Amino acid sequence: MNGTIFDIKKFAVHDGPGIRTTVFFKGCPLRCAWCHNPEGISPEVVQVVKTHKVGCRSFYHLEPVGRIIAAETLIQEILSDKVFMEESDGGVTFSGGEPFMQYRFLLEMLRRCRNMGIHTVVDTTVYTPTEYLLKAAEWTNLFLVDLKVMDEALHLKYTGVSNQKILHNLKVLSKRGIPFRIRIPVIPGVSFNRANTEAVIRFLKHLPVSPHGIDLLPYHNTGNHKFQPLGMKNAFQNMASLNTDELEDMKRQMESAGFEVHIGG
Ligand code: SF4
Repeated sequence: MNGTIFDIKKFAVHDGPGIRTTVFFKGCPLRCAWCHNPEGISPEVVQVVKTHKVGCRSFYHLEPVGRIIAAETLIQEILSDKVFMEESDGGVTFSGGEPFMQYRFLLEMLRRCRNMGIHTVVDTTVYTPTEYLLKAAEWTNLFLVDLKVMDEALHLKYTGVSNQKILHNLKVLSKRGIPFRIRIPVIPGVSFNRANTEAVIRFLKHLPVSPHGIDLLPYHNTGNHKFQPLGMKNAFQNMASLNTDELEDMKRQMESAGFEVHIGG
């Protein structure tokens, strides 16, 4: 079985517990205006034009973004880091894009990793059929779930999809006691305001089982340069990055509601 990925990050320390190998799957059903991984949105391997300047001359060449990889090859790459995973109580994280866009490949990877004793995390929007989520949960130790913005109209405006399926799937995870951690991209003008924070707290407080914690991910514009070569527009082109200390009030607000909160991925 083959899958399509656009990166493998070794020694990741922000994608779940311990030292991890993070595999980025291609394909995403959302279109977040602030996306910093736009190369992960298309499910296909695409060619982009790269420019190099030597003196006053420009040279162009085509470069693929992404690659098709066999499950067995990917397993071997993951296994090459197993010693670091074991020593740090780490493991593998499947991210994206949205890993559920390649549901069958994801399931195959989760199953194989778990059978080899590797701790598994799925970093997901949970914008996926509930039955896919529950099937994957059989082989997943922890879900990292993006909760972008609570207002449905704003969610639709800034991500291209309604948040109803996401909220429903979060309730299902919670009701079944499946471990998950919430990740909130903190975006100026979208999710970085008191009303959204209060709405998040209200929603999470009503869940039968609380998340393992909340990660606040400050907006950063380090992905800006990726849009133009992909022929994509960046709606947040002129938005300045947030400093982590700007999130302290939001963190305190959530902590006083009883959640363990961390700033950063
Ligand atoms: S869910 Fe992630 S990868 Fe998909 S568009 Fe949003 S930020 Fe980009």
